[in-house]
Amino acid sequence: MPRSTLLLAYLVVVALALGIQWFAGGVSGVVFLALCGLAYQARQLRHQKLTRKWASQPASAPPPDLGVYDEIVTPIYKYVRSRQNEYTALRELTNNVLSAAQALPAAAVTLDKSFQIEWCNAQSQRLLDLVYEKDKGYNIFNIIRLPEFFDYAQSRQWSRPLRSRKEIGGQVCSLQFQLTQHANEGYLLLCQDITQLEKLQTTQRDFVANVSHEIRTPLTVLIGFLETMRDLPNDALTKEQRNQYEVLMHEQAQRMLAIVADLLTLSTLESTEIIDGTTVQLAPIINEAAVQAQSISRESHAFEFDVDPVLAVVGQMNELASAVTNLLTNAVRYTPEGGKVSIGWGRNDHGEAVFSVTDTGLGIEKKDIPRITERFYRVDKSRSRASGGTGLGLAITKHIVIRHNAKLVIDSEINKGSTFKIVFPTEAVVYDPQDSSAKKAGIADA
Ligand code: ADP
Repeated sequence: MPRSTLLLAYLVVVALALGIQWFAGGVSGVVFLALCGLAYQARQLRHQKLTRKWASQPASAPPPDLGVYDEIVTPIYKYVRSRQNEYTALRELTNNVLSAAQALPAAAVTLDKSFQIEWCNAQSQRLLDLVYEKDKGYNIFNIIRLPEFFDYAQSRQWSRPLRSRKEIGGQVCSLQFQLTQHANEGYLLLCQDITQLEKLQTTQRDFVANVSHEIRTPLTVLIGFLETMRDLPNDALTKEQRNQYEVLMHEQAQRMLAIVADLLTLSTLESTEIIDGTTVQLAPIINEAAVQAQSISRESHAFEFDVDPVLAVVGQMNELASAVTNLLTNAVRYTPEGGKVSIGWGRNDHGEAVFSVTDTGLGIEKKDIPRITERFYRVDKSRSRASGGTGLGLAITKHIVIRHNAKLVIDSEINKGSTFKIVFPTEAVVYDPQDSSAKKAGIADA
């Protein structure tokens, strides 16, 4: 209540008391004043009680009328509210930062200036065996017992990370440690598992080395012939010899071209996605591939077909043609004369569409089976090269199969023969391509 209003109220009460005294006489004026004083006191006590109750929870809205206490309570309430809003915003920020740190794919550990653990995220448990509740306050060197890490931390040369190896879950993993100093004289330790990255780097290095080796071999042969022809006098070679040299040089150049073409195919498969598959009938593709395989065989193998003429799948025609041709020509190339190649295309008991090529050829040892789809992996290098192989055929086939959400299944027994199967999932199968209601499923990205 404003002071002026209070003063006015006093004046009115005194005037009323005088009026009553004049009108009623006796001690009526004094009695009236005493009653007013009591009423005022009772009101003050009520306000005091309400104020005390509010003070126990100053963030709650104060009662609407606290008399003289209003002037004290209102600014306190405003101050408490603004502090509370600040606190809520800060808590939200802290929670966001903490959950971001928890979501990091790396282990994050904050350390004080004497390398005692202050905080760590969930990944720290997997990579460093660190549990926040248990290890808080411990020195990090008692937990990470790698001498190279101790030296790295003590050296204070942290512009480059430290790479080290550690056993995690029974496997030796490559870890990368990075220490940085932060504002509070403390340190932040980040630790990443780079095992996969290192594997990828090794694969890339091996790949470049393999490609160089594969190209260098025919190139060396080609240059050898060219130098011989250049250095010999014109009449030193007979026409037949010259022709023979040219045929051999052409063969080597073709070999290089085949390697480059296969490398380009692989790189296209790796860098693109199948967006829309179309309905592809495999029977005509199989027929065309069989013609190629028969021309390589030169009638020295028997061919057997069990092909469903209408069964189709959703896919990419050129890619499927490439995979089918590769499996068929391989069957001929790795089966000695007189052998048999059986080709199947149909549905199995689960409704999946299966393309299979079975030969009675050389077969593959069990230990080699998982590796033959690797780039440039050959069981018998000289045989593969002699038959015009680049060592990339099955790598390309595997890629195509994966892009079609299918599976490549290989069964083989040494000196008995092999079966290569491409198993398409039921969702990709189209039973009758003439039927407009035939199911046309999409193909997932590779
Ligand atoms: P290549 O060009 O050498 O044939 P591929 O990637 O097609 O390359 O095959 C990789 C290796 O797998 C071949 O070198 C060969 O050793 C083996 N291989 C492939 N198909 C067969 C098969 N049908 N029978 C036996 N071995 C095979």
